[in-house]
Amino acid sequence: RDPGRPRRLALLGATGSIGVSTLKVAAEHPGEYDVVALAGATNVKLLAKQAAAFRPAVLAVIDDARAAALAELLPAGYRPDILTGPAGYAALASAPEVDLVVSAIVGAAGLGPTLAAVAAGKIVALANKESLVLAGDLIRAAAAASGAVILPVDSEHNALFQALGGVGLPDLPLVEKLVLTASGGPFRCADRACLETVTPAMALAHPNWSMGPKISVDSATLMNKGLEVIEACRLYGLPVSQVDVVVHPQSIVHSLAQLHDGSLLAHLGPPDMRVAIAYCLGYPRRLSLAVPRVDLVKLAALTFEAPRDDDFPCLGLARQALCGGASHTVVLNAANEVAVDLFLTERLAFLDIPAAIAAALDAHAGQPLPDVATVADLDARVRRETADWAARRR
Ligand code: NAD
Ligand code: MG
Repeated sequence: RDPGRPRRLALLGATGSIGVSTLKVAAEHPGEYDVVALAGATNVKLLAKQAAAFRPAVLAVIDDARAAALAELLPAGYRPDILTGPAGYAALASAPEVDLVVSAIVGAAGLGPTLAAVAAGKIVALANKESLVLAGDLIRAAAAASGAVILPVDSEHNALFQALGGVGLPDLPLVEKLVLTASGGPFRCADRACLETVTPAMALAHPNWSMGPKISVDSATLMNKGLEVIEACRLYGLPVSQVDVVVHPQSIVHSLAQLHDGSLLAHLGPPDMRVAIAYCLGYPRRLSLAVPRVDLVKLAALTFEAPRDDDFPCLGLARQALCGGASHTVVLNAANEVAVDLFLTERLAFLDIPAAIAAALDAHAGQPLPDVATVADLDARVRRETADWAARRR
């Protein structure tokens, strides 16, 4: 790439929490980024507004009806290509005129476009942790073959990437273990009786981070940290025994790497995803950013405690799935996505989320996953089985 010209960005999940934050970072550095493609699913109003501001040549939405609605909302004289569905997202993510792809679709739907970007050798700023949970091995193999660079957007993995010095992680053999920090979510101090009465509104009210609904519920169950343990193992090729979790309610220390000499390398910063996003957009340079600075004196204390494994079984289920093998983490993710969706629409109790996942894992004997089609088949089957399980539960 000619370093003199702007870096050309494609953004998957533009209308979500990470997508909106990404465009804020790009807007703070006019002239350095050229937003060439934006993809959303159903929120065509917001996508039209973003498109009018950044004028990308390519847009993508979930279906033809949304494409027609979107075209109606665009300003006169601006006629981008509008692609649709999974094939449209994959084409947008692998187009030759794209340098860097921000992968911020939520859930398993992010896998196909992420793999397309990786196979095309892009710089991939990866927020969609579910794709690593579904097919971490396939993604790593595709990156090795294409030369794609994967930059983790997830704050914990971004923190580790920064603390350990970036791509290649030359000192990884010196790493004794990784320590992921967790806020503990909105129910960190809630007793069992309270957990039995959790509503969607209570679960969506995260104390420190403002995020999309699915990851907010995952944070409340601690499944988010479970997915992140899997994400860390898949990114760094480490066994589960080398990834610990510690609850840190202030969300200022974003994770730590413990070395063989007892050193702990950490990354600290405000709990604002723009910091991690800016690191990825600028990489290997650093961008300035107008986020609130951490006031250590005002904070006064950073505290750490052990997760409550018995009351939040999702973290243990994720470790169990990781030990079971690649297909078990597909089962874990599919059951979780269905259970979270049912919980958000008030068709499943909060504590039945881990119960649904445990049932799916118990029913799974393990299988090889040679390609994405096999992953997709297993994902679809577990979704059906979990929906049936939940229907019987009602
Ligand atoms: P969100 O719900 O706010 O946004 C999701 C985006 O994905 C939207 O643009 C939506 O249109 C799109 N989308 C949903 N279903 C789709 C489908 N089937 N096909 C194509 N597009 C689809 O979610 P978010 O909070 O921005 O999270 C996005 C991803 O980033 C998730 O994987 C999440 O785990 C990860 N992440 C988010 C945060 C955060 O602070 N929000 C932090 C770390 C990691
Ligand atoms: Mg995270």
